[in-house]
Amino acid sequence: MPDLADRFRVAPGSSIRLADLDTRDDAGLTKDQVRDLLDDVQKKMFVLQRRLHAEGRRALLVVLQGMDAAGKDGTIRVAFSSLNAQGTRVVSFKAPTSNELDHDYLWRVHNACPRRGEVGIFNRSHYEDVLVVRVEDLASKETWRRRYDHINAFERLLHDEGTVVLKFFLHLSKDEQRERLLERIHDPERHFKFNPGDFDSRRKWDQYVEAYQDALERCSTDHAPWYVIPADRNWLRNYAVARITLDALERMDPQLPTVKVNVAEAEAMLD
Ligand code: AMP
Ligand code: MG
Repeated sequence: MPDLADRFRVAPGSSIRLADLDTRDDAGLTKDQVRDLLDDVQKKMFVLQRRLHAEGRRALLVVLQGMDAAGKDGTIRVAFSSLNAQGTRVVSFKAPTSNELDHDYLWRVHNACPRRGEVGIFNRSHYEDVLVVRVEDLASKETWRRRYDHINAFERLLHDEGTVVLKFFLHLSKDEQRERLLERIHDPERHFKFNPGDFDSRRKWDQYVEAYQDALERCSTDHAPWYVIPADRNWLRNYAVARITLDALERMDPQLPTVKVNVAEAEAMLD
């Protein structure tokens, strides 16, 4: 079995050219193989989440980023479908409200982080503050350039205080994005996903690529690594995210608390 975490991890300090990374890489796996593999991973993820919850001491935070239609919603729906809703916290970050803008940009993010025992999933994240904010000139260059250091320090804090942080960039090709945006226009079931703003971002594709490359290079750390996940094939994307998340849970090795009971006494107390 290929080690997907090794294959897709951005080595800290390395430089990234997204154009050189294949959005259709299948890691030598087939769709049929992946069906069974994913099933197994989901079952194991469920068991480990239960233990994480029971242990109640640490948390897991999964960050999903990617261009429009890269599959952030689909990944949450499929890769994490075996998680117990109780103990899972999904947060989607939209343009900040005026209340949020009255605080620093990490305020809403810190507040949305998983509690001890929870799995948190971010659909977009604090990275928008060095992505859309940079490309759309929503803050000065001086302002957003400082943020990489803040973000690394923030993620270090989460790590030191018991939250394991995993960050996935869903790497979609511009051609595949075109197909998916067309589907959103033609398929009534997908109309709700259609947002004319996505066309604007598509026109700024190269600027987003540059902004993503900087974020991946500056903020992939040992304590909070970035993974670049090939996203043109949904089945590979879903499996890779699930597998790498399970790896992290296995490394955390959460322990069920032992309850000290005298079985005979406890039985006697039941009527
Ligand atoms: P969606 O994920 O399709 O629901 O869209 C959410 C929108 O919110 C996207 O257009 C993001 O670029 C935008 N957004 C998220 N975070 C921020 C932020 N910090 N500043 C500005 N826009 C943001
Ligand atoms: Mg969208």
